[in-house]
Amino acid sequence: MTTDIFDNKILCSKCNTRMENAQIAKNGFMLRVVVCPKCNEKIIHPVDEREYSRFINLRNKEFQVKMRLVGNSYTVSIPKEIVSFIKEQEKIMNDMVRLCFEEVGRLSLNFGEFENIENKKIRKKNDQ
Ligand SMILES: [Zn+2]
Repeated sequence: MTTDIFDNKILCSKCNTRMENAQIAKNGFMLRVVVCPKCNEKIIHPVDEREYSRFINLRNKEFQVKMRLVGNSYTVSIPKEIVSFIKEQEKIMNDMVRLCFEEVGRLSLNFGEFENIENKKIRKKNDQ
């Protein structure tokens, strides 16, 4: 079994107080951190920080994808590197993806657990 560095006592480099484990959310990303209760100094878990910067790199990329007519619907291809990243983060991914026409000129796709309360309500209704 491997031990995580955040399982160790970490002392704040500024005030020498023992730091506490916490989590912060950034752009839908949960990051493990240790926080100093005295001066609020933070250290992000190095693994999470690396994953987060991979995410930011992907987010800043723009992909040109073609629409194709298949039967009565149009399809677009989602770049593999995006799907791979989501799969790594979520561990499991449904084949079903929610698609919303958010505003004129903009579609959104929702994968896995990035689910808002509104959708959960709708699902509950459908289950009954
Ligand atoms: Zn401190």
